[in-house]
Order: sequence, then C-alpha cells, then structure tokens
Amino acid sequence: MARVLVTGGAGFLGSHLCDRFIQNGDEVIAIDNLITGNADNLAHLFGHPKFKFIFYDITNYTHIPGDLDFVLHFASPASPIDYLRLPIQTLKVGSLGTHKMLGLAKEKKACFLLASTSEVYGDPLIHPQPESYWGNVNPIGYRGVYDEAKRFAEAITMAYHRYHSVNTRIVRIFNTYGPRMRIDDGRAIPAFISQALRNEDVTVFGTGEQTRSICYVDDLIEGIFRLLHVDYHEPVNIGNPDEISILDLAKEIIELCGSKSKIVFKKLPQDDPKVRQPDITLARKLLNWEPKVPRIEGLKRTIEYFKEKIKI
Ligand code: UDP
Repeated sequence: MARVLVTGGAGFLGSHLCDRFIQNGDEVIAIDNLITGNADNLAHLFGHPKFKFIFYDITNYTHIPGDLDFVLHFASPASPIDYLRLPIQTLKVGSLGTHKMLGLAKEKKACFLLASTSEVYGDPLIHPQPESYWGNVNPIGYRGVYDEAKRFAEAITMAYHRYHSVNTRIVRIFNTYGPRMRIDDGRAIPAFISQALRNEDVTVFGTGEQTRSICYVDDLIEGIFRLLHVDYHEPVNIGNPDEISILDLAKEIIELCGSKSKIVFKKLPQDDPKVRQPDITLARKLLNWEPKVPRIEGLKRTIEYFKEKIKI
C-alpha cells in the first residue's frame, strides 16, 4: 500500500488520480486551495478511511506528517481563461509550488511526478511534437504565464533529480477531456457541449482551422499510472494523436448533442497554437500504453456528464 499526495486533488485530473489510487487500495491525501478546483469532484471520497482532504495553498511551506511514497503535483490553473484571470497564481504554483513539493518529496524520499503540458511546445513549428522538441513560446504573451511556469517547473524538477537525486517523473499532458471538467472553464469541449445542450450559439475562435488532439481522461490517467512505475526521468508525452480541427469538433459536438445550435466565429485569442498533436512513440515503447477510448465514445460520456450538471 502506498501513501500518495495529490496537489490540485479537487481538480479535473487530480480528482481522477485520487480515484485511481483509492481503487488501487492506496492511501490518498488530496490538497487544493480550490481556486479552480471543486470539492464536489471528491464528494464521493469524503469519509473513505483511506482518503483525506487538505484545504491549502502549496506555494507556502507545506508540512505533511508521516511517510509519503508519491507526490503528484497537479495543482495549477490549466485552462486559458483561468490562467489569464489568475496570472500571478499560475506563475507561483508552477514555480514556488513546484519547489515546495520537490522539497517535500526530497524530505520524504518520495517519487515526485510533475504534471507538465503540451503548452511547453507553444505554437509548435514541428508537427507532431516529440519530447525532443524545445518549443516555440512567447515568454511575455498572455499564455506565457502558464507556458513559462511549466517550463520552469520542468527545469527545477530535472535539477532536483540531477543534484538531489530525487526520483522524478515529468508527464507532458496534451488536451484531455471528460467528466468533471468545469462547465465554465472556457475550454473548447466544455464550452461547445454546454452551448450545444442549451441550443445556444457555439463559439468557434478564429476560423476554427486550428487543430487539437483530444484524449479521454481514463486513457490519460492510465498512462500517468504506468509512468510512475517505470524508471524514466525525462519528459513523456501522454495524449491521443487523434487530431481534429476546432470547427469539425464543434460540428461533431452539435450533432452528438442533437442540438439546434449554430456556429458563430469569435476573435482568436493571442498566441493560440495553430496545431497540436502528440508524438507518443516514447510512451508506446516505454509504457506499453496506447489511448483506447475513441473520440465519439469519449464525447458521448462527457455529454452525459454535462447533461446531468446542466439538468437537461
Ligand atoms: N476555442 C474555441 N471556442 C471556445 C473555446 C476554445 O474555438 O469557446 C478554441 C481555442 O481558441 C483553441 C481550441 O479551441 O484554438 C482549444 O482551446 P482550449 O481552450 O480547449 O485549450 P488549448 O488547447 O488552447 O489550451
């Protein structure tokens, strides 16, 4: 049995990770300051004998009594409108928060996993993106607060690994979707589904020709779980290479919702990446992992979740 700390435990990915470890019979401590997370995501775990929730901001010194086997650092605003709204908190949790959690992992001799992001590749000039690509990031753009925080987080994670021999992992997470995304988090999938379910206009930014490659949450969690159990310290892309234009995604969601919504075009946000697709050759080889949930199936499951939330 392992004892696991999940920062950002009340968030979309953090809460799914908590579930995965609880199902595994492990003890889980979730920590979150709830600025973008939601305790409802953990409601089903409250009262479980192996689960504990701590309301705390991990950019401050963090004391956790007892041993820890894993520190999984998922705390961060992660959707563009959240990190535009919370630029300083985003920079702080990626820098100060990552430093604190690395210090904690070092003290406890725990394995540390950093939730990094495809945003480290910025608006990529290489397609699809392999881990060896260094990226094309505007450090002072609006998205830079997230991109640079995560790039710093990767750098300090490697430094703790190299200089303090901390057992670290870095996962570069590509666009992931599924139940427990916030309806109002502003990302394309929750926005399109909630608009389509309400028969409101579906807002496509720019021409909609920009692409993303979307991964169902269960596939992502499985990939991360496997990464913890191999001895590999450099970044690993986890995502689904199934690439689609945002306009086609909007049309697909309208159809799956049986909606009367029309598509309207809005201004493209600054530095919005034109393409994104993970090269998952490394994950396939290292983790013997492959995303399994087809897009239509994943979207149907996500639509069901949102129907329940919106009460349609
Ligand atoms: N997008 C859109 N309409 C929305 C929200 C997002 O067209 O209501 C676009 C956005 O400009 C981007 C893509 O969808 O090109 C994916 O955006 P998201 O916020 O989901 O995440 P990103 O991959 O940009 O971090």
